[in-house]
Amino acid sequence: MSPGETRVTEGQTLYVDGKWTSATDLGTFEVTDPATGALIGRASDAGAAEADQSIAAASAAFRSWSRRTAYERAEVLQRAHAIMTARAGELAELMTLEQGKPLRAARNEVGYGADFLAWYAEEATRVYGATIPASRGDQRLTVLRQPVGVVAAITPWNYPVSMITRKVAPAVAAGCTIIIKPAEQTPLCAVEMFRIFEEAGFPPGVVNLLTTSRPAVVADPLLASPVVRKLTFTGSTQVGMMLAARAAATMKRVSLELGGHAPFIAFEDADIARAAKGAAMVKFLNTGQACISPNRIYVHRSRMEEFLSVFVARVSAMNAGSGFADGVSIGPLIDDAALAKMERQVSDATAKGATVLAGGRRLVGGELGNGRFWAPTVLTDVTADMDIYHEETFGPIAPVIAFDSEEEVIKAANATTYGLASYIYTTSIARATRVSEALEFGIVGVNDINPTAAAAPFGGVKHSGLGREGGQAGIDEYLDTKLVGLSLA
Ligand code: NAP
Repeated sequence: MSPGETRVTEGQTLYVDGKWTSATDLGTFEVTDPATGALIGRASDAGAAEADQSIAAASAAFRSWSRRTAYERAEVLQRAHAIMTARAGELAELMTLEQGKPLRAARNEVGYGADFLAWYAEEATRVYGATIPASRGDQRLTVLRQPVGVVAAITPWNYPVSMITRKVAPAVAAGCTIIIKPAEQTPLCAVEMFRIFEEAGFPPGVVNLLTTSRPAVVADPLLASPVVRKLTFTGSTQVGMMLAARAAATMKRVSLELGGHAPFIAFEDADIARAAKGAAMVKFLNTGQACISPNRIYVHRSRMEEFLSVFVARVSAMNAGSGFADGVSIGPLIDDAALAKMERQVSDATAKGATVLAGGRRLVGGELGNGRFWAPTVLTDVTADMDIYHEETFGPIAPVIAFDSEEEVIKAANATTYGLASYIYTTSIARATRVSEALEFGIVGVNDINPTAAAAPFGGVKHSGLGREGGQAGIDEYLDTKLVGLSLA
């Protein structure tokens, strides 16, 4: 699909009980290309009635889906994986159109997203219970692992495909049924994923999709229903905390993948050129719109000049533009609010003494038109009194901060309410061990900017969330533990 080409999905984007339907009141909302603002489609605007229908469908389907063998469930996931892989090109193009990320990054995301389907197809058959030695000779203790039931899932726009498979795959592998409410900016990617699920052969009601521009209206019945036994949410800390508090009223299981403020630390013994290259790659991944994006880049004072010469050269060479154009690594920001946040964080930082070494401004004109492009930005002389030092940026701005000692930088890195990803660059094994143990984050990359995989547990501590997605821990989130005590007497 080329940029500007209109892809109009009119009307029926809700998938409930195995059928594509519209909102009862026939309401729709517009979906736009963030690079140009052009209309690319319309999605059905679900409300409370559709949420209720999906709860009923998922609840009815749970009775039979949870009783299918793990091998049968795995087979459907394997088929979904094969179809998704065969459609990788189309899905990536749709993602670039709807979300804005460069096509290459979109292809990477489709691959990462598909990995969850394959990995949990296999994991479905490895949900083992246990037998426990009893203290009485005439007693047997057995532990069963059973699916939690109907799951409500809410996903964000920044990874519009993989955030769906990261929840759907472990949930259905475990025997749960699921209702997905995707972000309103990226409903079309969700629709394509559900076409894949439909073709893969999930029975009616096992997977359900509610596109909507009224998140609270749809979330209300899902949160209030005692039938929904689990809430899984990926998005901002503010919304996640609010939803978790409400889910407590019906004692739902809760998994939260929330915001981050990742520290990236380049020590004096690091391969500095490699650290600078890694920082440039991971900071500007998805135009900085990633929860694992570094938000504070700490560089040892003795290596700062060297670091900046490589880092600034790399950042200055990055091209912004349409995700469909060759050589573009910086796409548009998702909306005007994101653009306004970049303006605000940069002007706050410069007013308080930060220096702009690259970018620092909105990009307009030429092929960028009046789009939502922000020049990849490097700020130095960043201090703790600046908003950017504490607030998640979620955009292409890299604040660089000098430090003098390991002790000082660990303390500074941990001085945040967030605790998702962190990165360290060092050539000392002792230091790598010490610092990764001391960092209060769910993920530490040591000389590594991509410590994520379908097989690995992803998630945060503190205000970055609860629970893990991916790996064995990811399926545990959808399983209850039941103890069966049997007396032989
Ligand atoms: P968001 O504003 O919290 O939105 C996330 C989802 O929650 C969207 O589907 C949104 O729907 C929905 N939502 C918003 N208000 C709601 C309400 N009152 N009731 C029910 N649902 C509601 O976050 P975002 O801006 O889309 O995503 C960016 C955030 O996600 C960042 O903080 C980022 O760090 C985090 N994130 C975390 C991870 C992780 O794995 N830890 C991964 C990706 C992103 P609408 O779209 O309709 O508003």
